[in-house]
Amino acid sequence: MIIAIDGPAASGKGTLARRLAERFGLPHLDTGLLYRAVGRGMLLAGHALDDEETATLIASRLALADLRPDALRGDEIAEAASRVAQMPPVRAALVQLQRRFAATPPGAVIDGRDIGTVICPEAEVKLFVTASPEVRARRRHAELTARGETVTYDDVLADLKRRDARDAGRAVSPLAAAPDAHLLDTSDLDIEAAFRAAVDIVQGDGPVV
Ligand code: C5P
Repeated sequence: MIIAIDGPAASGKGTLARRLAERFGLPHLDTGLLYRAVGRGMLLAGHALDDEETATLIASRLALADLRPDALRGDEIAEAASRVAQMPPVRAALVQLQRRFAATPPGAVIDGRDIGTVICPEAEVKLFVTASPEVRARRRHAELTARGETVTYDDVLADLKRRDARDAGRAVSPLAAAPDAHLLDTSDLDIEAAFRAAVDIVQGDGPVV
């Protein structure tokens, strides 16, 4: 079974994906890590973030086994990820590795922005997880503050909105719900309630968008 989960930053999709993977005994791939790894590679080597050739080279050399989630957190890397994710050859270089992961038995929970639309249009279950920008910014702000970072709520909200606009507005594989995706708005749900709703959807009870 392939469970495809898409949605904007801080919507709760990452936590839901991890928990669904555990619940249904499937491996999990957070595809944001791939774009973050390319973004980080560009930052570390001091390349301009519009250098498509180098970004594509970095993407084509990526292997899932090399991904180090702890080294890929942070908003600077997220911003760089969203810049390189706009480039069609960067996305093309990452398609096969995502599809192979999903197609390997017993399947996978795979989350990102274009999983239900482009990477795994054949997924048995598709979820599009959203929450209002204000709720997402509050969550992200609390997370950053807990980690000891000093950042204002207004800056977090502005960053999220900028990244949403870029992800939803790009020409290739924009952030979008597949026509057959189940919409899960987590604005008024805590993680337990969101998880229960997601499990219901996977088990066949959810509303179709
Ligand atoms: O999900 P996360 O916030 O880690 O993703 C970082 C960035 O990577 C996103 O803002 C988006 O631009 C890009 N991304 C993407 N397609 C995916 C996953 C992430 O374009 N499937």
